[in-house]
Amino acid sequence: MTSIHEYIQQAKLDDDKAFCAFLYDMRALTRHVQHRVSSLPEKCRMFYAIKANSDTPILQALSSIVHGFEVASIGEIRKVRAISADIPILFGGPGKTDEEIHEAIEQKISLLHVESLHELRRASYIAKQKGAILPILLRVNLHSPLPEATLAMGGRPTQFGIDERNIGEAIKLAVALEGVRLEGFHLHSLSNNLDAFQHAQLVKNYCQKVKEWVEEFNLTISYLNAGGGIGVNYQQLDQQFNWELFIDQLKPVLASHQLGDIDIIFECGRYLTAGCGYYAAEVLDIKQNHGKNYVIIKGGTHHFRLPVSWQHSHPFEIIHMDQWNNPFARIELTDSEITIAGQLCTPKDVLAKDCRVARVRIGDIVLFRYTGAYGWAISHHDFLSHPHPDHFYIGTLDETAAGLKKELIAFNE
Ligand SMILES: *Cc1c(COP(=O)(O)O)cnc(C)c1O
Repeated sequence: MTSIHEYIQQAKLDDDKAFCAFLYDMRALTRHVQHRVSSLPEKCRMFYAIKANSDTPILQALSSIVHGFEVASIGEIRKVRAISADIPILFGGPGKTDEEIHEAIEQKISLLHVESLHELRRASYIAKQKGAILPILLRVNLHSPLPEATLAMGGRPTQFGIDERNIGEAIKLAVALEGVRLEGFHLHSLSNNLDAFQHAQLVKNYCQKVKEWVEEFNLTISYLNAGGGIGVNYQQLDQQFNWELFIDQLKPVLASHQLGDIDIIFECGRYLTAGCGYYAAEVLDIKQNHGKNYVIIKGGTHHFRLPVSWQHSHPFEIIHMDQWNNPFARIELTDSEITIAGQLCTPKDVLAKDCRVARVRIGDIVLFRYTGAYGWAISHHDFLSHPHPDHFYIGTLDETAAGLKKELIAFNE
C-alpha cells in the first residue's frame, strides 16, 4: 500500500500534469490468486472470468496460476489466445453467433456453456459441419432459492441459462445430438456474494442437483461448474469474504456428495482482481453548492463506472501532495463531508457522496481502492472525449519508489 502512495508521489514529481491513472499491484494480485488456487480442495479448479478485467498484463500474470479462463465473446477468446495457444477456455454467455461458435471450435475451447435448447441444436449442427464433437456444459437457471447477493442471474426470471423445468428435455437432446458431448452442468447464479458459509451451501445445493440429474438420466459427466460470484465488500474493507471458512465448509460438502470423477469448476472474476487495482485522480477543484462540498477530480465515471452503476460511495483515501507552485491560495477543507465528482457534464458523474474526510486540498490525489474488477472494463471511456488515464502495472513493490518505474510493464491500449 505504502508503495502505491510512493509510486504516485514519484510519478507526480516526474511529471507535473494533473494525475489520473489506474494502478495495479501485480505482486498482490499473484499472491492473492496463488493462495486461493493452492488452497482449493482436490478436484476443484479455479478459472478466471476475464470480463472483470481483460488487460493483457493481468491475463499474462494469471495465466500461469489459474487453471484457465472463462470468456463470453469471440473478442475475449482472441485476447486469451493472444497470450496463450493452449490455456483452457470456457466459453459462455447468452446470444452467441454462428461465427463465434465456428471460431471458438477453431480456437480449441475446452467447453461451451450452452444457454438454450436452440443454441444446443445450433452448436451441434456447426460442430458436425466442422467434423468436430464439441464438449459442452448445460447452463441451468435453477428454481431453488439462492442466498442474497448484489446481482442474481438465476433462481428468478433472467435471460440466462435453461429453465430447470426444461432440463430433462435438454439433457435428452444433448445426449442424442451427434455434434456435442455433454460433460456436465454450469450453474453461475449470482454475483457479489459476501457470505462464505452460504456460498459453500450454494455449492452443496448444486452438487445435490447435479447428482440427481446424473442418476435420473444415467449420465457420465466430468464437470460441475459452480460459477463465480464471490464478492468484495466495498463498504467495510476489513470484512472481506472469509475464504478460509469457505474452504473449511467446502471440504465436507465435496466429500459427502461422492461426486466421483466430477471436477468442480469455479470461474471467479471480481474476487480475483478487484483488490489489486487502484484508481487515482488529482483534485482539480473544490467548491460549495447549495451547502454541499464538491471535490472535482481529473477523471470520473467514464473511467470508473462501478460506483454509479451500483449507486454506492466507492471507498477512497486522500493522498496528500505537499507541492503547490501557484501564486494564489490553495483551497482546502478539513473535517468535512465531501462529494467526489468527475469531469463529465452530467450530475450522475459522482464516485462518492457525503463522505467525511479529515483534510483535502486542491492538488491532493484521491485514491479509490478495489478498482481492479469491473472498473475500466465496464466504463464508457470516450464519452466527452477526455484523455484516457494512464495504466500502471507495478511489478515488485519491495523496491523504492524510484526503482519502481523500471518494473513498469508498458501497455498501450
Ligand atoms: C461474470 C461471470 C462470472 C464472474 O462473475 P464474478 O461475480 O465476477 O465472479 C462467472 N461466470 C459467468 C457465466 C459470468 O457471466
